[in-house]
Amino acid sequence: MTILQAKPASSAGSMTPVEVGNNFSDLHPPYSTLQAMAESNRCLYCYDAPCVTACPTSIDIPSFIRKISTGNPDGAAKTILSANILGGTCARACPTEVLCEQACVRNVAEDTAVEIGSLQRYAVDHRMARTDLPHPFKRAALSGKQIAVVGAGPAGLSCAHRAAMLGHDVTIFESRPKAGGLNEYGLAAYKMTDDFAQREVEFLLGIGGIRIEHGKALGRDLNLQSLRDSYDAVFVGVGLGASNDLGLPGESFDGIDDAIRFIEQLRQTEPKSNMPVGNNVIVIGGGNTAIDAAVQAKRLGAEEVTLVYRRGPEHMSATEFEQELAKINGVIVRYWAMPVAIKANGKLIGMAFEKTELRDGKLTGTGETFEIRADQILKAIGQKIKTDDLAGMEIAGGKIVVDENYQTTAPGIFAGGDCIKSGEDLTVQAVEDGKCAAHAIDAFLKNA
Ligand SMILES: Cc1cc2nc3c(=O)[nH]c(=O)nc-3n(C[C@H](O)[C@H](O)[C@H](O)COP(=O)(O)OP(=O)(O)OC[C@H]3O[C@@H](n4cnc5c(N)ncnc54)[C@H](O)[C@@H]3O)c2cc1C
Ligand code: SF4
Repeated sequence: MTILQAKPASSAGSMTPVEVGNNFSDLHPPYSTLQAMAESNRCLYCYDAPCVTACPTSIDIPSFIRKISTGNPDGAAKTILSANILGGTCARACPTEVLCEQACVRNVAEDTAVEIGSLQRYAVDHRMARTDLPHPFKRAALSGKQIAVVGAGPAGLSCAHRAAMLGHDVTIFESRPKAGGLNEYGLAAYKMTDDFAQREVEFLLGIGGIRIEHGKALGRDLNLQSLRDSYDAVFVGVGLGASNDLGLPGESFDGIDDAIRFIEQLRQTEPKSNMPVGNNVIVIGGGNTAIDAAVQAKRLGAEEVTLVYRRGPEHMSATEFEQELAKINGVIVRYWAMPVAIKANGKLIGMAFEKTELRDGKLTGTGETFEIRADQILKAIGQKIKTDDLAGMEIAGGKIVVDENYQTTAPGIFAGGDCIKSGEDLTVQAVEDGKCAAHAIDAFLKNA
């Protein structure tokens, strides 16, 4: 089969800057007070509420919703933030449709869950706007203990905030110029509008006792042993820093990139219309990163975006909502195909795929091939930990091994978030890990 010649990549897609800007406005606009009151009154304030069990941070959902319904959004925010200090980001980015809202009993009674995520956002945004109020949490009596946190992502920030609350002083070492981890560099731009990630970091630092040193990378400027020697305990929350490759010849060709790097560049580009995008974009993968890259390429103005996944829709790790979002945005999704060759004639022109099927439960190529034109290919086939930074602790299956107290195999060094074995690739889980690890570190320091 011949491939169609791709048009040259545009620097700003085929849309006007205003159209592009509109495409990156809030995915779910915030509730007005009237909407929040109406929605909060749908809650049945269940005893042993299933929505609470479904939330990885166990936010007392009926309690915060009741506070909204009685006109106390700041009290509601305190309930949320006491369980999840990054409740503002989670309200925007959590796949609530497979967590709290999936568990909501209103699904049975009315076929529509209480919109817990929107209510949570209403309360937290209301509280964060109250700059006249002091930080909602106070620190315990100072312990005199010093904790080093590596990585200012959701796990590291959550650990630092809880450790500061427990009376310890915290220094966060962060390799990048901005804190927030994937809240700042990874989540889709239309989920995190108005510089929310940075505003949330500022709010969180309001507790006091946390210092962030930027441009300090473990493995380059720091090592775990020297941190352990200088601090009473260490928490590692470095996420997954490296992306998997396709293993095809020509992979470093101009126009082929990691989806995560594309998203990072997009998040840091303002206005969004300045972000370069191809006309014919292929995204390879079946997770949320693949969907986010494909949808955002389309919203930047790419004419044709094709997402190719080697298995069926039911095998995708992207949620049904995310898969639907891709289709609504005009992304073409092709299942059961794997990339076999990069096509170029001096410049990137496309990719060849082989159809796949399950044979005796094993994914196998059928021998039938097809080609798709492309001037940009984005790889979203998983990330892995950069193990060379982590000498001294056990790694298994590409992740740091921890026990039930988030303690690694190196005494006094704890870890959480995407970099640990149970890491679930969810912001809310990273927040929970950081919070629980801070309590484990506190117990460790008290017993030392
Ligand atoms: C594209 C994409 C979209 C996503 N969308 C969603 C979503 O919509 N909803 C959701 O719930 N989850 C989403 N996730 C998952 C979520 O972002 C992660 O689970 C979460 O950010 C993990 O937090 P973390 O703190 O463990 O790691 P990270 O957020 O990766 O933070 C790690 C931090 O450590 C720093 N660091 C790394 N190496 C070093 C080093 N050697 N020295 C010093 N600092 C270092 C990094 O710069 C970073 O700041 C998405 C992930 C991706 C990749
Ligand atoms: S399950 Fe639904 S109705 Fe019950 S407390 Fe939770 S949000 Fe309210």
